[in-house]
Amino acid sequence: MKRFADPHEALKQVFGYDHFRGLQAQAVAAALEGRDALVLMPTGGGKSLCYQIPALVKDGLTVVVSPLIALMQDQVESLAEVGVRAAFLNSTQTSEDAMRVRREVRAGEIDLLYVAPERLLTAGMLDFLDTVKVALFAIDEAHCVSIWGHDFRPVYGELAILRERWPSVPRMALTATADERTREEIVGRLLVQPDELVASFDRPNIYYSVVEKRNVKDQLLRFIRNRHPGECGIVYCLSRANCELIAAHLEAAGINALAYHAGMLPEDRAQRLARFQREEDIVMVATIAFGMGIDKPNVRFVAHADLPKSVEGYFQETGRAGRDGLPAEAWMAYGLNDVMNQNRFIDQSDADDNWRRLQRQKLDAMLGYAETCECRRVRLLAHFGEASKPCGNCDNCRRPPKMIDALTEAKMLISCIWRLQQKSGMSFGATHVVDVLLGAKTEPILRHGHDQVSTYGIGTGHTKQQWRSIVRQLIAQHILWVDTENFSVLRLGEKANAVLRDEIAVRVRASVAEDGGSANRSGA
Ligand code: ADP
Ligand code: ZN
Repeated sequence: MKRFADPHEALKQVFGYDHFRGLQAQAVAAALEGRDALVLMPTGGGKSLCYQIPALVKDGLTVVVSPLIALMQDQVESLAEVGVRAAFLNSTQTSEDAMRVRREVRAGEIDLLYVAPERLLTAGMLDFLDTVKVALFAIDEAHCVSIWGHDFRPVYGELAILRERWPSVPRMALTATADERTREEIVGRLLVQPDELVASFDRPNIYYSVVEKRNVKDQLLRFIRNRHPGECGIVYCLSRANCELIAAHLEAAGINALAYHAGMLPEDRAQRLARFQREEDIVMVATIAFGMGIDKPNVRFVAHADLPKSVEGYFQETGRAGRDGLPAEAWMAYGLNDVMNQNRFIDQSDADDNWRRLQRQKLDAMLGYAETCECRRVRLLAHFGEASKPCGNCDNCRRPPKMIDALTEAKMLISCIWRLQQKSGMSFGATHVVDVLLGAKTEPILRHGHDQVSTYGIGTGHTKQQWRSIVRQLIAQHILWVDTENFSVLRLGEKANAVLRDEIAVRVRASVAEDGGSANRSGA
């Protein structure tokens, strides 16, 4: 028998809260009434209570599937502190401990049992669960079931067995990152006609901006000095080497900066994480290895020195800013090289074609965000299936970009790429194509005789920087295409023909502000 008949009573007496937050009450109701549920809430939204409360009310054992052993132990410990009968089974345990836990479960002395998916799926564990009454399966980090998502774990797919083996036991799948496609995959693989409980992902206190990358180290330094002096922030880089370089640069300029990446020893990382939690003015320069377990409320900015690989990742990372609800900033620098490098990176991986196609689609969505001239928040939220209105708290809302007609420029680029192909029987990279348009006398141009093609020097009305910006935007608009199978040469995209036939308008932003516009420091 359970101690509580009513969920509110459990909420109040065990956790000390008066009210459920957001969609928690509905999630709890689904579990108590025996329906499957998909719970989508941003990090910090309060997902744990969605299954912890039913575990205290509903007769039987609530099994929580979680991939993160450290988190599992933390949760069990803090539940024990408030008197909840919780336990875990995982590989760090002695067999005596595991036996004891099983005994307690069988005796009905445990309300919540945390297990890693690999463990749950063993024949022994499945048979064991047949001998107890299961009230609910809660599947945490459910996006791991999605091939499209950013953290695919094959073992999650096998959790489909739960609905086959225990069709009458409700399941609750929980995650903080799920766009429409991930959501469909979770439902398709794990649930049956679930209540879909989707909280808003909006973080209204975060100001979003994107700047054109020039010298990112100096841009970052100016950004921090001008906008966040003495404040705590995180700078994300794609490579470990870049982390070290940028951290050193900031440190030399007198900023309390610290590098963090997976190449460091675990002790060293733990020490750096502790410094981050403790010091008020620290700037952590990190790879995405820096993420789990950060719950510092007063992170005032998250900066991306490189283009992230996906919108989901970007949103998750920027979400670490402003947890306290006070104004915070998400700043990102990006340039043509980011697009080229990431395409190359995808291409050089030895993963299968399917994986590469997905990575390209993600990169494409990220590019779309970086290049959008509309409200960034509208774009981000739309990615998560949420409709919204222009926010007034992003660079594009604050300073609408000046759009110019670039049909002529697009045609110049297309015909230049075409002529070079005709002349040399091969394609060339963006730098070379732009050099030809600018009439440069580089060694490759002279060697290939590209000073003889008709498009040589026809683009001197723009600077190199402007051309690179135009190329980037045309890639995002699918008018040009980076062929990574072949040394990242620039080719004609699927919309190039439509441009040549004047069937579509081509507009690009005139230039991107150097500092990302001005965030409203007095409140969002
Ligand atoms: P998530 O798993 O979604 O990241 P948690 O379950 O860890 O979020 O909850 C985040 C924080 O919010 C915790 O400190 C938790 O105690 C608090 N919290 C959750 N639900 C409520 C509530 N109904 N009222 C007040 N605080 C809550
Ligand atoms: Zn906006």
